[in-house]
Amino acid sequence: METEEVLKESFRRVGKEFGYDNVDAEFIAFREFKVRWQRSYKWASFKVSDYMMDAPGEVIEALARTLFGKIAGKEDVPYSEEMIAWSTSKDFVKYKQPVYLRRSRGLTRSPKGEVRDLEDSMSRLVDAGLAEADPDLVLTWMKDKNLRKVGYCSVLMKVIAISPALDNAEVPEFVLDYVVYHEYLHASGGMKVFGRPHDLDFREDEVKFPRYREAEEWLNRLCMYV
Ligand SMILES: [Zn+2]
Repeated sequence: METEEVLKESFRRVGKEFGYDNVDAEFIAFREFKVRWQRSYKWASFKVSDYMMDAPGEVIEALARTLFGKIAGKEDVPYSEEMIAWSTSKDFVKYKQPVYLRRSRGLTRSPKGEVRDLEDSMSRLVDAGLAEADPDLVLTWMKDKNLRKVGYCSVLMKVIAISPALDNAEVPEFVLDYVVYHEYLHASGGMKVFGRPHDLDFREDEVKFPRYREAEEWLNRLCMYV
């Protein structure tokens, strides 16, 4: 069966169990790994990230169950084990990361800035025992200097993007390192991918950065935040 047929059939079948007679689902080439949906009383239509195109049938079905669960009002329906295992696998990163990077036009796709190299930041974090080297992790600069957000991380795609505002000799290196560390903590969150991004565990790790407070003060002065 065509993968889109598998998707449609799966969503129709699960939708029926939840009382929806008219269900449609299709793959869309979103940049981010996400699902959008619209629905009325008995009708629902899903646009599913095409990163799921080669997912096994049981993963698609598990996703459908999670989404209909959410629609039914159970806000905290967790993603299934199948879904988490599949989307955090080595193969997922290997095949989807290049596609994600191609679609991310706002990224330079290089760790080398004009004055700072993000790989150097990562090496310092590894040397300090704050991070573990991860060959799958891609570090890149964003192109837009004017964003308030100093960095972001696609956990599933293992991509860390940093604002070029920090590629500046007047901003100390440790401030950049702190931001890379913050995003690294997201990237290394692994199974917590679908949980709350800045939970207590995260905050506990974050303050392990030796000049945490100073770095935060710098970012405040720059009117930027992590
Ligand atoms: Zn964060």
